[in-house]
Amino acid sequence: MTKNSLSMEKNNQIKHQIDKWLLPKVENKNQKKPILQLAERVLQNYKKKTGNLNPPINLNDLGECLDIKAKQILLSKNISSSALLIPIEGGFKIELKNEDKLHHNYRTRYSCAHEMAHTFFYKMEDGSVPFRAVPSGSDYEESLCDIAAAELLMPKEVFETASDKIITKYGNSLNALIKLKETFKTSLQSISIKAINNGWEDYLIAKWNPILDNKTIIRFEKEWEFSKKVKITMPKKVYKTEPIFEIFEEMWNRPGEKISKYNYEKDFYPEGINTKVMLLNDGYLTKLSFLIMVPIGEYLKALQYSDLSNEHSKEEILLNFIFEKKASKRQKLTVTKEKKDLVDFM
Ligand SMILES: [Zn+2]
Repeated sequence: MTKNSLSMEKNNQIKHQIDKWLLPKVENKNQKKPILQLAERVLQNYKKKTGNLNPPINLNDLGECLDIKAKQILLSKNISSSALLIPIEGGFKIELKNEDKLHHNYRTRYSCAHEMAHTFFYKMEDGSVPFRAVPSGSDYEESLCDIAAAELLMPKEVFETASDKIITKYGNSLNALIKLKETFKTSLQSISIKAINNGWEDYLIAKWNPILDNKTIIRFEKEWEFSKKVKITMPKKVYKTEPIFEIFEEMWNRPGEKISKYNYEKDFYPEGINTKVMLLNDGYLTKLSFLIMVPIGEYLKALQYSDLSNEHSKEEILLNFIFEKKASKRQKLTVTKEKKDLVDFM
């Protein structure tokens, strides 16, 4: 009993901190520690309940480990958003869009974990209907719930072990990323962010979709990208004649090594940089898309950005595989260096 009330008190402290941060006009919006602490506490309860944190996390069990429980999790055909959190007597009902069976659609699982994180922003008195502790609709709360959802589905405690094991077997590859996604049964986007932040810091991972006109690809558009090391970004749109277009086009026509029923991976070496590309087609031609994984360090070396941690950390670099412009810079640098050596020698 004493233990329980103590942990409740601790919990209230964390909540109080979040409440303060959610107030309008609060400047410091980069703190994610309290929300992670709340997620970790839920995971501790889960571990007590199920005996371990082995992936994939069971959402029904997880719902029972929340401070204010998710009493019902169900699929619904008639909802406009991907998920809804509905306060009911003594807890919550979570409705998820009926895209697929709960435990088979990874994006639905992520939406469910995100709604569970919203429960942290509610209060409940004596088993009545929970009410909001802070006003709803803040973008900041949304981003905190994304952080918590990622932790709930991919607990840090088990992620690194799983990642090491998979990398040992498959190397740092897109295949390894897909294997991680299947292990944790979460979305490709969330597993990519998690990977970049936990051991895959040297890579940029991006997803691209082809835009078709009359059954011909006319360009590719970037859906998302993640990288950590420097401010490095790929162009938003890629048209024909650009090197990335050629890479994707080749992948489209000659897919490479078959990884699973719908996924093919292939290595490309523009300027000797080992770039991995995966064709994802999910069984539908119209849903066809690409993943690209670029080793940032090697890419920057090819552009002669030797000191990427300091000198270029503030510079925004467009990663497009067009090297001509930077090649002249490289030459210039070499000449300068030789001259300097000569002076030193003399
Ligand atoms: Zn939300």
